[in-house]
Amino acid sequence: MLLLVDLDNTLVDRASAFDSWAIDFVGALGKPNSEADWLIETDRDGYEPRDSLARAIKERFSLDMPVGDLVDRLLNEHVRSMTIGALTTQALARARKYGWKIAIVTNGTTAQQMLKIQEVGLEPYVDAVVISEAERVKKPDPEIFRIAARRLGAELTGGWMVGDHPTADIAGGQAAGLDTGWVSRGKEWPGETASPTLIAGTAAEVIDAVVHLGTLAK
Ligand SMILES: [Mg+2]
Repeated sequence: MLLLVDLDNTLVDRASAFDSWAIDFVGALGKPNSEADWLIETDRDGYEPRDSLARAIKERFSLDMPVGDLVDRLLNEHVRSMTIGALTTQALARARKYGWKIAIVTNGTTAQQMLKIQEVGLEPYVDAVVISEAERVKKPDPEIFRIAARRLGAELTGGWMVGDHPTADIAGGQAAGLDTGWVSRGKEWPGETASPTLIAGTAAEVIDAVVHLGTLAK
């Protein structure tokens, strides 16, 4: 049984880590907290390309700093305050106990995503890590989910993709023929695309529900 799981804002709380970084960053420039709101919005949960965000920051705050240095700071500094909840690792451990093979499937740069995984100690809980930069294909392209399944020697049929992004994770997973679990983080399903198989607020809740359903289906 195949369980593919997104990283940012699914297994790890990227949003909180980036928000506190943004507040520190604008604070160090002597700017008000409202500027952190601008920065967080412009980041779009990490989906804004890093060099484009770096240019926007440089321009807004009239920074005398190379764009490349800002990109490095955007990629790495907030990772230090990332955490993973005990409920999340417990859910992963339970899934494995019931025979699920687990891969993290994440969009991003290899160096940054591996740093996060090591920083929060996720490696022992998963069987593989599939990162878009290394595979030269990114979610929602169904090919990245096929790569993950092949790496685990598992069938896509009966498999699941769990994540917080309606397009990258849910529409992508559906296109690869997977069942999907949406981590809502308290939001309403946007409804522009086909609904996921199941919805719950946190990764731990979604993974527990998937394991329950998958075990019943066996
Ligand atoms: Mg995500």
